[in-house]
Amino acid sequence: MKGKGTYTIRKGQYVVKVDPAKCTECYICQLHCSLAYKAACNIERAKIKIDLPRISFTEECTENCTLCMRYCPREAITFTERV
Ligand code: SF4
Ligand code: SF4
Repeated sequence: MKGKGTYTIRKGQYVVKVDPAKCTECYICQLHCSLAYKAACNIERAKIKIDLPRISFTEECTENCTLCMRYCPREAITFTERV
């Protein structure tokens, strides 16, 4: 099921805009996160959770990291610096 309805999450110095409708559940974001922080390509170990229509971050999510956003091919997660 594709997600719908955008929402925002505060994360460190960023506001994250999440658009679940754009997410294709490719898990590229999770693979990069787990590879960078857990030295494993394992979506279960990623700090971003894809559970459409929800996309969320675990408490372990590194405050000022933007890796998952940069690798998302669909711009389903967009980080904007808080002013
Ligand atoms: S912001 Fe960084 S640490 Fe947090 S889920 Fe995305 S890749 Fe992982
Ligand atoms: S990389 Fe983007 S499209 Fe792929 S699962 Fe993550 S949020 Fe969804």
